[in-house]
Amino acid sequence: MKYFEKLLIANRGEIAIRVMRACRELDIETVAIFSDADKNALHVKYADEAFHVGEAHPSKSYLNMDRILDIARKSGAEAVHPGYGFLAENYKFAKRCLEENVTFIGPRWKTIQAMGSKIGSKQMMKDAGVPVLPGTDGGIQNIDDAKKVAERVGYPVIVKASAGGGGIGMQIVNDEKGLEEAITASMRIAKSAFGDATVFIEKYLVKPRHIEFQVLADEHGNAVHLYDRECSIQRRHQKLVEEAPSPIMTKELRDRMSASALKVAEASHYSNAGSVEFLYSQGNYYFMEMNTRLQVEHTITEIITGVDLVKQQIAIAAGENLPFEQNDLSIRGHAIECRINAEDPINNFAADPGKIIRYRSPGGPGIRVDSGIHMGYMIPPNYDSMIAKLCAWDSTRGEAIKRMRRAISEYIILGIKTTLPLHYAIMNNQQYVEGNTHTHFLQEEHILSTLDRYKRDEETRMQTLAGSFEQGKKVAAITVAVNQFLQQQKK
Ligand code: ADP
Repeated sequence: MKYFEKLLIANRGEIAIRVMRACRELDIETVAIFSDADKNALHVKYADEAFHVGEAHPSKSYLNMDRILDIARKSGAEAVHPGYGFLAENYKFAKRCLEENVTFIGPRWKTIQAMGSKIGSKQMMKDAGVPVLPGTDGGIQNIDDAKKVAERVGYPVIVKASAGGGGIGMQIVNDEKGLEEAITASMRIAKSAFGDATVFIEKYLVKPRHIEFQVLADEHGNAVHLYDRECSIQRRHQKLVEEAPSPIMTKELRDRMSASALKVAEASHYSNAGSVEFLYSQGNYYFMEMNTRLQVEHTITEIITGVDLVKQQIAIAAGENLPFEQNDLSIRGHAIECRINAEDPINNFAADPGKIIRYRSPGGPGIRVDSGIHMGYMIPPNYDSMIAKLCAWDSTRGEAIKRMRRAISEYIILGIKTTLPLHYAIMNNQQYVEGNTHTHFLQEEHILSTLDRYKRDEETRMQTLAGSFEQGKKVAAITVAVNQFLQQQKK
C-alpha cells in the first residue's frame, strides 16, 4: 500500500536522511530542500529531487514557510515531514499545510498550539489528573506574586519560558535575592528567542532524572505507548546520552507513568508520534511537557521495540489505523544513543564546525549510526552542532555499554572536535555503569575535568586508532590503554 507518491522533507542533515530512508522503503519519492550552506550536503544527494530554499540563515531557508510550501506545490509533494527543530513544532506551519492541501506529518495544528505553551499544557495535564510540579498557575504578572509563589513551593525554583525549547531562557534561583533578576533575564531571552516573554516559576528538583515516554496515536482514537527513555545526561539542559528503557524502571513505575503518558495523549486529542517528558525524583514523577514531533532519540525506541516510528508517522498521517495494540508491543534488550556533536566538551561545549578530514563510522553487531556527514564534508556553522547519532543495542544494559565503548573506539572523526571522547568517559564511569544518572551527572562526576588531560592525547589516539584499524591491529589494545588512563585520572 502506497501512502503517498511524493513527500517533501522540510529539514536537513541526519534527520532528513532518516525520513528519506523510510520513504525509500515505502516507495515514496522524496523532495529535499537545501540552503546556500547545504548545497553539497548528503541529504540533498540522497533525495530523488532537491530544491534550493534560500540563504544559509534558518529564517531565510528552513524556517521560510512560503518558500517551502511553494516547493511542495512545484514538486507535486503531497505531504511534508518536518523532522525535529525548525518548523516541527510550529502550529502555524501545520495549519498552512492543511490550508494548502498538503499533509503535515504530525499532530493536528491545534494540538501543536496547545502543547507549545508549557503553562497551558501543564494546566491541561493538572486538570486531567497527571502529576505536575508546583509553581505559578499562569505567567508571572508581578514580582511580588512571584515571590509569594516561590516562598510557598520553597527554593530552589526554576524560571522557565512558556514558549521555551532547547533549555533556552531557564534560570535557577536559590533564594529570594536572585528572583527578580532571573525573571527579568528569562523574560528578555524568551522574548528574543520565541517572540513571547511569558515566563513562569516551578519547583526546581535538585538531581532529578529525565524520563520520557514515546506515544503513537492514530486519527481514529487508538493510542499506544512504546515504553520509556532515560535522557538524564545533559549539557545546558540538553540531552547528550539517552537510553531505552530507563535503568530504574520497574513494572509498577512503568504502569503508572505510561498511564499518565496516555492520559496526556488523550487529553490533547493527540495523533501521530509524540513524547511525554517527565522529571522523576525519589519515587515521584511530574509531567514537564509534551514534544509534538519525532524526537532525536526515537532511534533507541525503534531499536528495542522493532517499530519503525517514521513509517508509522507516515501511515498515520495517511489516515491508517495503528497496526498494533498495546499488548502486541514488548521490549527487546537495551539501547543507548550518544549524540555526536561538533563541539569541544572541555571548552564549554563551544561549537567547532569545519572540515572533516578523516571519517570512519563504526559497524558490526548491534550498531546503528544516523548521520549526515562524510569524509571531506564541511560542517556549516549555521545550524545545530549535532552531526551524528551513535546507537548501540545488546541484550542487557551492561552489554550495550560495552558495545558502545567498542563502537566509540572504532569511530574516527578527524578535523573537528567532537563529543566522542566525552561519551567514552561517560561509558567508563562507574556511576553510569551502575545506572545512577541524573541531570547533574556531568558536573557531579567531574567528567569534564577527567577529559581535560585526556583531550591532549585524543588527537594522537584517533590517529593511532585510524592507523591500527586499517592495519588490522587490535583496536582493543587502544581501548584498554584509554581505560587505564581514565582509571589513573580518577585516583
Ligand atoms: P526545553 O523545552 O527548553 O527543552 P524542558 O522543560 O524540556 O525544557 O526541560 C529541559 C531540562 O531542564 C530537563 O530535562 C531538566 O534537566 C531541566 N529542568 C526543567 N525543569 C526542571 C525542574 N523543575 N527541576 C529541575 N530540572 C528541570
